[in-house]
Amino acid sequence: MADARRDVARLATGLGAGDPLELARAITLVESERPEDRELAEELVEAVLPRAGASLRVAVSGAPGVGKSTLIDALGRHVVDGGRTIAVLAVDPSSQITGGSVLGDKTRMSRLAATKRSFIRPSPSGGVLGGVARRTREAITLCEGAGFDTVVVETVGVGQSELEAASLVDVFVLLVAPGAGDELQGMKRGIVEVADVVAVNKADGPDRERAEQAAVAISNALGLFSRSAGGRATPVVTLSALEERGVPELWTTVEATVGEAKARGAHATRRSRDRLAWFRGELERTLRERWLARTGVGEKLAELERLVEAGSVAPSRAVRLLVDELDGRPG
Ligand code: GDP
Repeated sequence: MADARRDVARLATGLGAGDPLELARAITLVESERPEDRELAEELVEAVLPRAGASLRVAVSGAPGVGKSTLIDALGRHVVDGGRTIAVLAVDPSSQITGGSVLGDKTRMSRLAATKRSFIRPSPSGGVLGGVARRTREAITLCEGAGFDTVVVETVGVGQSELEAASLVDVFVLLVAPGAGDELQGMKRGIVEVADVVAVNKADGPDRERAEQAAVAISNALGLFSRSAGGRATPVVTLSALEERGVPELWTTVEATVGEAKARGAHATRRSRDRLAWFRGELERTLRERWLARTGVGEKLAELERLVEAGSVAPSRAVRLLVDELDGRPG
């Protein structure tokens, strides 16, 4: 353990110096589900926390194939050319179910990867469902501790995870295809509403006009949503990530969106809310883990699960029986 502690101290120092290898090792540590690593990861995150928080955090989300990696490759180079540094974290909740990773392929974002001022972290495969938000928050913190001033979180659109990703960042960019205008009815309203910026990609070749029409349709639909919520209009832009057209404009929109949120005080509120969500998530996880680790609880849980499965005990009653037992009170 003493060795491991020294390791954490060395990692924290290496991170402070902006060493990408140390950053990669640090992220591996926070991704680990081994209890002994967890404790070290907590120490590391805590050591880095005072230096964290200063980056611009952006999520790019969308269905597979919509052009997320092509966009981040182009956007990242634009951002780096502008003097910033960028860390890209890929979050792929589907990999936790399938064991594979849609985002894991090493050839993605190759041009951005070749620049010195970037760091790209593919999605971990495997792991525990529900751990995505925690791991991503910790990884964001580590990237910031390593001095990156822009952190892009790439997520594959699978509903709930998008909503979760929106809470982790300052600006949530939803990337859609030119056909999105026709599919607007079918698009999950919650996801479109949660977007801070909607970008219609592949506005090139024969699809250019369709993409422009989609932008208008989405803009109109969002206008209806925001009018009912009394909010501001969500910017909708078109671009071609492949031809790298509209990419600088997207970045300008992202920066303007953050600037405006800062002016309204909404940026600070969002960060506070995220810290609170982080705390609550940790609390729930820790309580669950500690309770379930108590002697006899595993057996009791298994027994109750069998009864619930068989339909002989109502789920709510089973929960009460278990919790009362944990509390040391009669069920
Ligand atoms: P991801 O799965 O969302 O990361 O999508 P990719 O970035 O891997 O892109 C999927 C496919 O769409 C690739 O064949 C890209 O070359 C293509 N693509 C990405 N952006 C554009 C674009 O702006 N225009 C066109 N025509 N194709 C694009």
